[in-house]
Amino acid sequence: MKKDLSKPALSKNDNMVILTACQGEQRNCPNLLVKSTKWESMTADWLEKNKISEKLKKTINSKKILRHHKISVVIAGCPNGCSKPYTANIGLVGFVKPDVEPDLCTACGECEIVCPDTAITVNGGPPVFDRDKCLGCIKCRDICPTNAISLSESGIRIFEGGKQGRHPKLGEIIAEKNTPDEVFEVLNKIFENLTD
Ligand code: SF4
Ligand code: SF4
Ligand code: SF4
Repeated sequence: MKKDLSKPALSKNDNMVILTACQGEQRNCPNLLVKSTKWESMTADWLEKNKISEKLKKTINSKKILRHHKISVVIAGCPNGCSKPYTANIGLVGFVKPDVEPDLCTACGECEIVCPDTAITVNGGPPVFDRDKCLGCIKCRDICPTNAISLSESGIRIFEGGKQGRHPKLGEIIAEKNTPDEVFEVLNKIFENLTD
């Protein structure tokens, strides 16, 4: 029997959002800054509650859901990004911000040397952090011999616009947020734009 090609073949079971996360939390990764599996579960709940997949399906003008119709949301527990959040449509990457207690600092310069992102300058005094460059990897805190560096803030850095394939592109940072509510407010805006 011939298939009726006039009928859309969109299935209720086709999820329009591909959600993945790094294994950092499950494997006790020493670099973990935010709980990747917990964030994956919270994000899955939020996507479900807000019927994001159903809303995205309504935007498709095609009988079949193709890979490029789907939106990838990728979570990483730290800026190392093993799960490839930077080439996802939406990347959620854990971060922390280091800060220094000046009285404890001996200006040894170890933190400047270890910083992989040249985000620290030590010039005879406590380190000065370049917040635009810092990815929050905490290497500076871990190396400081006097425990002068602590973490002042942690949360999720949100990237948008990445893609894989023949013409890969890195997503851009669009926000840094500290709480789940704040992160999901940003996600809501992104998906509103995608489903408008
Ligand atoms: S992204 Fe970071 S926390 Fe996750 S597995 Fe990789 S190194 Fe560990
Ligand atoms: S490693 Fe610690 S003590 Fe040395 S310069 Fe950096 S903050 Fe100061
Ligand atoms: S947290 Fe990492 S990137 Fe940021 S200043 Fe420290 S070593 Fe550099």
